[in-house]
Amino acid sequence: MTAEFLLEVTDLGKSYGHHTVLKNVSFALRRGERIALIGPSGSGKSTCLRAINYLDPPTAGDILLEGRRIGRRKNGRRMSDLELAPQRAEIGMVFQHFHLWPHLSVRANVALQPQKVRGVSRVEASRLAEEMLAKVHLAPKVDEVPQRLSGGQQQRVAIARALAQKPKLLLFDEPTSALDPELVGEVLTVIKELAGEGRAMVLVTHEIAFAREVADRILFMDDGRIVEQGPAKDLLDHPQSPRLKQFLASLS
Ligand code: ADP
Ligand code: MG
Repeated sequence: MTAEFLLEVTDLGKSYGHHTVLKNVSFALRRGERIALIGPSGSGKSTCLRAINYLDPPTAGDILLEGRRIGRRKNGRRMSDLELAPQRAEIGMVFQHFHLWPHLSVRANVALQPQKVRGVSRVEASRLAEEMLAKVHLAPKVDEVPQRLSGGQQQRVAIARALAQKPKLLLFDEPTSALDPELVGEVLTVIKELAGEGRAMVLVTHEIAFAREVADRILFMDDGRIVEQGPAKDLLDHPQSPRLKQFLASLS
């Protein structure tokens, strides 16, 4: 049986002590669909992404990937990190600050996870790393160490690393906001190419023009809630809530 949605997020909540940072966040993503998550700083966007793959376990709600519950067993108990690893591998995540291993080659950075989590052989993982690095236009850099690359190149390595997991879903958390302006384009180009392949993604971004171009739908988050959502162009051209109007005005 195939679930209608690739990802279903239902009443997701997250509190740190008495501080509630996510409140009843619900949305669903179809196969091949791309959602952009926008909103002011501190509104809960990163927390939401990190909750989806249980990097930061939610304190309420459910997350289903292809109808299977992430992070919890049938009896509701939290899974151990070991049990979670194969589920997490189905969700590739790209962070604002690349998080590459500085002492490893670019190739080894990309090859590590498939060997550790999916039991791919060293030779096969190395071949896979080359393939994924070629996909992000970094074939000549496979044997470099990350420090010798520009920020844009390092972020593309991080994207290749996420792709090497063979994920069903990609999560991007402001993938270009740590980059010098002249390096943003090369990263956005790669993400656009992945979108063109019909990959499902949730993308947190401040690049509104990019969100308009790439996303099918946009969710606007404010103060831990989804305040407004809709088809990308509708939402951006005809914002309804005062908060979204104010937010969009603040960007221009
Ligand atoms: P955004 O990504 O939209 O800027 P975040 O998800 O990073 O927002 O943060 C949402 C809120 O959660 C903020 O108020 C932030 O201070 C708080 N927060 C995030 N991580 C933690 C943490 N580990 N402990 C306590 N509060 C946190
Ligand atoms: Mg954030």
